[in-house]
Amino acid sequence: MHTTLEDWRALLEAERELDTGVYTKHDLLLVRGEGARVWDAEGNEYIDCVGGYGVANLGHSNPGVVEAVKRQAELLLSMPQTLPTPARGEFYRTLVSVLPPELNRVFPVNSGTEANEAALKFARAYTGRKKFVAAMRGFSGRTMGSLSVTWEPKYREPFLPLVGPVEFIPYNDVEALEKAVDGETAAVILEPVQGEGGVRPAIPEFLRAAREITRERGALLILDEIQTGMGRTGRRFAFEHYGIVPDILTLAKALGGGVPLGAAVMRKEVAEAMPKGGHGTTFGGNPLAMAAGVAALRYLERTQLWERAAELGPWFMEELRKIPSPKIREVRGLGLMVGLELKEKAAPYIERLEKEHRILTLQAGPTVIRFLPPLVIAKEDLARVVEAVRAVLVA
Ligand code: PLP
Repeated sequence: MHTTLEDWRALLEAERELDTGVYTKHDLLLVRGEGARVWDAEGNEYIDCVGGYGVANLGHSNPGVVEAVKRQAELLLSMPQTLPTPARGEFYRTLVSVLPPELNRVFPVNSGTEANEAALKFARAYTGRKKFVAAMRGFSGRTMGSLSVTWEPKYREPFLPLVGPVEFIPYNDVEALEKAVDGETAAVILEPVQGEGGVRPAIPEFLRAAREITRERGALLILDEIQTGMGRTGRRFAFEHYGIVPDILTLAKALGGGVPLGAAVMRKEVAEAMPKGGHGTTFGGNPLAMAAGVAALRYLERTQLWERAAELGPWFMEELRKIPSPKIREVRGLGLMVGLELKEKAAPYIERLEKEHRILTLQAGPTVIRFLPPLVIAKEDLARVVEAVRAVLVA
C-alpha cells in the first residue's frame, strides 16, 4: 500500500513517464471515489462530471457492486464461455429482463469497441452483406472495425485502410439515410445521442426512419447505447424515448457498474446466423464482470436512477442556460448527458473548472464542455457545478 505523499508523487511520475503518451493527462492523482465525488492524493475533493467517461452512473465504488465483486472474486475469478458458470446465466437473465422481448441473445465482451465489433460481425453474418451506414460525428470506438464506422477523420485517417465499404451520412438527415441504405447494406449503426461528437440528440423522425428503412431493405439497425444506456438519458435505455427497438443493441461503460463489461444484445435470428466459433473472446463473460453486471443492473432497477437523470438533467440544463455569457452557443442534451457548446475552445474552461473549482468535466469536440456526472449526484453538487461554470464564463 502506498500511503505517503512522496510515494504518490513517484507513482504519478511513473504513470506519466512510462505511458505511451497517447492521452493528455491531467496533473492529478486520484486515489478514492464515492458517489459523485473523488479525492486526490492530497485529500482534495472534486465533483466528478467526467464520471469515468460515462462509466460511473451508479456512483464511484457503488457498495452493491463492490460487495458482489468481493464475493465473486473469492468464489471464481475466471471461466471461459465454453464452461458455463452461474454468474453468466444470471447476468444474461437479468439484462434480458429489462429489455424488450425481441432482444434476447447476449454476446458479452469487455469494452464498448468490442461490443460494436461483435455487432458489425453479427450483422454481416446475418445479412451476407458488406456495407455499413454510419453518421457524421458518430463515434463507435478505436479498434479497426469500430474505427471504420467512427467518423472523426483525425481518428481514422492515420490508420487507413479500414474496413469498408462505409458510407457516412449527416446525423438527423432522413433523406440522406433513404439514399444511403440499399441492397448492399448490412447495417446502419447510430448513437441515439452522439456523445463524443458533441452531445447531439437524435430527432425522433431520424431514428424512426432508420428503423423503418432498415427493416424494409433487409438491413439491421445497430443502436450504440454504450454512452446513453444504463439510465444516463432519463430512461433505462435511450431507445425508449424514441419508441423503437434495434436489431442489435450495444452496451458497455456503466453496464458493469465500474468493472469492464460490454455486451451486444440481439434478436435470436441474428445470433443464430453466426457460425459456431465465428466470434469469440477469452475474457468476455468472465464471472467477475458478470457478477458486477448483475449487481449494477439490480441497483439500477431498485433505485430507478434513470428517473433522477430525467428530473435533474432538464433542471441542470435550464440553470446552465441562465448563465448570461455571450461565449455560450448552446446547451443541449438528454437526461444527465449534457453538453455546453461555446463559441470558442472549451479546453481552457475545462482546466479552470478543475484548477479553480475542483470540478472535473470533459470535452466533446473542440468547443463543447460535456457533463456526465454519476446519476446519484446530489442536486446541490450540480448547483455548485452551475456556479463554477458561471464563474469561469462570466469574467
Ligand atoms: N461507442 C460510444 C457511443 C462511445 O461513447 C464509446 C466510448 O466513448 C465507445 C463506443 C467505445 O467504448 P470503449 O472506449 O469502451 O471501447
